[in-house]
Amino acid sequence: MRLLIFGPPGAGKGTQAQFISKYYGIPHISTGDLFREHIHNDTPLGKEAKRYSETGDLVPDEVTNEMVRKRLLEKDTAKGFLLDGFPRTPAQAEALERMLPEGTSLQAVLRMIVPEAELLTRLAGRGRQDDELETIRKRLRIYRDTTRPVAEYYREKGVLVEIQGVGPIEEITRRIIDGIEEVTLNKM
Ligand code: AMP
Repeated sequence: MRLLIFGPPGAGKGTQAQFISKYYGIPHISTGDLFREHIHNDTPLGKEAKRYSETGDLVPDEVTNEMVRKRLLEKDTAKGFLLDGFPRTPAQAEALERMLPEGTSLQAVLRMIVPEAELLTRLAGRGRQDDELETIRKRLRIYRDTTRPVAEYYREKGVLVEIQGVGPIEEITRRIIDGIEEVTLNKM
């Protein structure tokens, strides 16, 4: 199963991604986690990524795309994968298309929907380094202006599943799995 979960910061993507990747037995590939790992290990890529993520900006597409391209070449992706936090721009979505093996594409794209006021409350309580109020606002703005259009790209391809991301965690997981089953069944 080749899946993508996307949504604004604070939507609960990471939490849900863990359940989904376990359920389908596919690796969870989070670009945010990959960048944080590089930053933690102080690699050249980490140094580059840090400049952007600290201020809430997106890391440039060429840098991000190359990191994902390499990750998708690893063997564990043979059965599929769950991307989390990538693609985040229409250009990244097009780059992803070219990275996937000939004749394959994403089978379901999950868009988590959470009201902005709820996101602000959640993010303010999270205490991550990139969660200062100014940075939070910037990340939400970038999501709205740059990332949300990615949904339209996948809607046109008929694989978009919109999930209401408020409510008990298990219930949201259920909505996601039902949504995946429905959109992939329709393709058969
Ligand atoms: P996240 O944990 O997904 O919110 O990502 C944390 C930070 O990593 C973001 O604020 C960006 O600076 C960077 N990042 C993660 N994914 C991407 C991406 N697909 N494109 C550009 N930057 C990204």
